[in-house]
Amino acid sequence: MARVLYGCCLSISPKKQRPKFTVCHAELNAIMNKNSADVKGCIMYVALFPCNECAKLIIQAGIKEVVYLSDKYHDTLEMTASRTLLNMAGIQCRQFTPKRTKIVIDFNSINHPGILNSATK
Ligand SMILES: [Zn+2]
Repeated sequence: MARVLYGCCLSISPKKQRPKFTVCHAELNAIMNKNSADVKGCIMYVALFPCNECAKLIIQAGIKEVVYLSDKYHDTLEMTASRTLLNMAGIQCRQFTPKRTKIVIDFNSINHPGILNSATK
């Protein structure tokens, strides 16, 4: 069974002083802060298709598949290079299509235990 690795964005500088190069890419953050000895054979789930720099790291880490939600920068040079690198390395990439477009969390439901009980049946 494949292990799963999730990416999330991390900025190391205050928002006002956040030039592009001080942001830690989600994939880098996930790989460097993994909760295992390595990520060989893992499936990586990310919000955006990985950039070319993250693609290099994904290849070196031995990740076998990338599942992304959006490829909105598809036509940029970085994403073209990334697709080429990932393809050459034989890493599967597929887009996740959620059945729902949003999730609503109703914090008031905790005050109505009957609603929670019926939702879990
Ligand atoms: Zn990146």
